[in-house]
Amino acid sequence: MNKFKLYITTVLIIALLSFSCGNGNKEKEQERRGRIRVISTITIIDDLVKQIGKDKIESSVICEVGTDPHTYKPKPGDPKKVSESDLVFINGFGLEHWIEEMVRNAGGNKKVITVTDGLTAITDEQGYGDPDPHLWFNVDYVKTYSKNIMEAFVLADPVNKEFYMNNYNSYVKELDKLHTDILEGVKQIPESQRVLITSHDAFRYFGKAYGFEVRGLQGISTEAKVQTEDVKNLIDYIKSKGLKSVFIETSVNPKLLEQISSETGAKVGGTLYSDSLGDPGTETGTYIGAVEYNVNTIINALK
Ligand SMILES: [Zn+2]
Repeated sequence: MNKFKLYITTVLIIALLSFSCGNGNKEKEQERRGRIRVISTITIIDDLVKQIGKDKIESSVICEVGTDPHTYKPKPGDPKKVSESDLVFINGFGLEHWIEEMVRNAGGNKKVITVTDGLTAITDEQGYGDPDPHLWFNVDYVKTYSKNIMEAFVLADPVNKEFYMNNYNSYVKELDKLHTDILEGVKQIPESQRVLITSHDAFRYFGKAYGFEVRGLQGISTEAKVQTEDVKNLIDYIKSKGLKSVFIETSVNPKLLEQISSETGAKVGGTLYSDSLGDPGTETGTYIGAVEYNVNTIINALK
């Protein structure tokens, strides 16, 4: 009998122990879950999310540093990352044509926020077909990106409304300063040299906002095949304008543009951050840092 009692007690103790251990893990999980889990498609959006969510969120990104979103091939682990997130932030205007299927694979009931909501894209005056998704290169537009992010956080976590709004308001001040600094800085470049030749057409919003003519070897998507005629046209254009510099991009193969550089004598004026930021923790690891770097590179090459 005693043996049996002992056995029952032992079983009970083990059961209780494992139950309370399980509970402890659950609490830890809950604590972690207290922060909003966010996934963004590109590093540019991921940085804005961090500026506004700070320590109240846990963020990750699908297209990591240096990755081209236009030609991105989803990795096997991506749908899981999406399904474990509370919010999914995307740029929209066709940049992430692979995201819909990923959201569907993740169960389809994810809250997806398009951060360009409220903005109008440049469409197609040059026959590219799609709207141009690179709206983040008008710094003023990034205020709308940030507002959409802030509002999503307030909805998901209303208790911390003030926190998100304060972060948003101070970030908008930084964006306003950056916008006017660029307008001021580009005055150092002679007007005839305010032309940006890049690998792909990511800088049309930048050009429109800050007074540059913009020509990309490829259209608004790096998916387009480059024709010999495109190369020839660009070479003629650079020669006719007497342009001193062309620019390569961190997320696009530089080969063709380097070839154009050697054929025209226009030097490679530097590498620009177009569809990806630099490494986290470095000067170009934030949106503001990358734009400042781009602008300084452009000014130094063209002034
Ligand atoms: Zn692009």
